[in-house]
Amino acid sequence: MFQDPSLKSKLVLATGLIFCCNFLISLPLRSASALAAWALSSNGSLTLRTSSGTKLDAFYQSSTNDKGERVWIDFPGELSRPRTLKGNGSVKEIRLGKPTRGITRLVIEFLPSVELEPSKLKIIGLSPNTWEMKLIGLETNSFRSIGEGNILRNSIKRTFEKINIQDFDTSSLPNVPLGKYKVVIDPGHGGSDPGAVGINGLRETDIVLEVSKKLSEFLAKKGVETILTRKDERTLDLQPRVTKANNLKADAFVSIHANATRGKRKEVNGLETYYFSGYKGYSLAKNIHKQILLASSQSPDRGVRRSRFYVIRKTSMPAALVEIGFVTGMYDAALLRQKAYRDKMSFAIAKGILNYLKVSN
Ligand SMILES: [Zn+2]
Repeated sequence: MFQDPSLKSKLVLATGLIFCCNFLISLPLRSASALAAWALSSNGSLTLRTSSGTKLDAFYQSSTNDKGERVWIDFPGELSRPRTLKGNGSVKEIRLGKPTRGITRLVIEFLPSVELEPSKLKIIGLSPNTWEMKLIGLETNSFRSIGEGNILRNSIKRTFEKINIQDFDTSSLPNVPLGKYKVVIDPGHGGSDPGAVGINGLRETDIVLEVSKKLSEFLAKKGVETILTRKDERTLDLQPRVTKANNLKADAFVSIHANATRGKRKEVNGLETYYFSGYKGYSLAKNIHKQILLASSQSPDRGVRRSRFYVIRKTSMPAALVEIGFVTGMYDAALLRQKAYRDKMSFAIAKGILNYLKVSN
């Protein structure tokens, strides 16, 4: 049995999820429970819609006697109508109950023959009120989608949250020795490659160029020498970006990107930062990630991850690649559209880089 109280920080990419609400039984959930809707789709994805800012607890229980494995999730607030829904395929049944006062529990019980991989079970925050858990193994057993309520309805009410324009006071940023460090900033894509194109034509290339330039300004004010791999809208291959950084013998390389889901899934939002190798690379990514999370308390934490992206793999100095949100995500796109938010991201990344330079050199 495991309990993961910090669900938002344990994220994995769920690939290939196609969620279709047409298959769902549409029953309104009338209760004070934080659970507003749920759906278990035929490809094994459990999607949950909750009130914004809900804290969830998820559990796994191995099979006992004649009972199959169980996964359950506890939500704050009480359900008015406990009930059991008959499952199909590998799912025996789904129960919605109130185990104790003030708690709603959603239990999925599998047939005794089903074996899940508990170490791979994670709940991913897709937006401030949408969650997803992949239940591997379900998809092979011709499971038919089941659910209650509409997952997408009312989703992400904070879409148009206004970010306050603030003065970015660089004196509040960590100090590093003047003229000591050289940082290469790499705005992803450009020119003929616009990168991801999201909601209402929001383009990754535009966002990352502006964020990179602003980041460069902030760092320059702190006495860091900054070099941009591109300063305008131009096509630039990956190799020259790396060569530039390597020739300059930069102290750090930071590539700025914005994310997208292949199916343009609006409910998928969040921040993630990548490194390729070494403790310094990890530390750079972690320091940046920490700051962007603080700057965007509502965007889900998709974690610091290792990846083999060319620009962070081929650069010879500690390198990180930051994904500052999904241009395809309803919540992130609304934020990324705002200049004040983009500046806030630049400021946060600058702070992360300075913190890294302070501790690692
Ligand atoms: Zn990109």
